[in-house]
Amino acid sequence: MLKGYKYRLYPTAAQADFLVRTIGCARFVYNKLLEDSLALANAKLHLDAAFAKFFAGTAGFPVFKSKRKARASYTTNDALVTEKIPNPRNLREAEARLKRAQRALSRKKPGSRNREKARLLLAKKHEQVKNRRHDFLHKLSRRIVDENQVVVVETLKPREMMQDRRLSKSIGDAGWGEFVRQLEYKARFYGRTLIQADPWFASTQVCSACGENGGRKELDVREWTCAACGALHDRDVNASLNLLRLAD
Ligand SMILES: [Zn+2]
Repeated sequence: MLKGYKYRLYPTAAQADFLVRTIGCARFVYNKLLEDSLALANAKLHLDAAFAKFFAGTAGFPVFKSKRKARASYTTNDALVTEKIPNPRNLREAEARLKRAQRALSRKKPGSRNREKARLLLAKKHEQVKNRRHDFLHKLSRRIVDENQVVVVETLKPREMMQDRRLSKSIGDAGWGEFVRQLEYKARFYGRTLIQADPWFASTQVCSACGENGGRKELDVREWTCAACGALHDRDVNASLNLLRLAD
């Protein structure tokens, strides 16, 4: 018969110091392993998180993983997390500088040295925006893949996106195609499931509470009430709840 024992440890200052140093060594090992295998490193991340909880006093000392129970503690996240993520400030600032550089260039006399200078400056600002956008997308896709076992993405139909200039601009700016590409390969790498919803899936039309299809909703409808069950929905939250069903 297998039995489990749980212990809570209260280390003295010296013991805590030893543990912290052990974590430091573990970090060294982590970085070494990272060179070889990100999957092993992922396990180390979980151990780091376990130690962090232990020192915060919210969990006991990390226990050894049992071969039989390994799956039971696999990273999953079945709670729906709705989060609207704006472009980060440093990206918005870089975009503003890019716009200024564009205007500055258009004011310069063709063929002048000042125009050449402005052209170079503009190229530099373009590069900055590109780098910041990539950096943002990489961090975001990595976090999403880290925190979730199953990720569902829905790419809106071009017609829907183009209906709304603000939306089409923000989708274009954020590099949606690149973002999905990153999610794809990271999901594959870390053994996550990435589901791409059929573009014709009626995620915004169906009531996530009762399943009634209430028909198409124009893009400016951000909230609606289900005629069948009376549930009040935020457009995006309702759509993501429907998309999450695809994960089951
Ligand atoms: Zn309903």
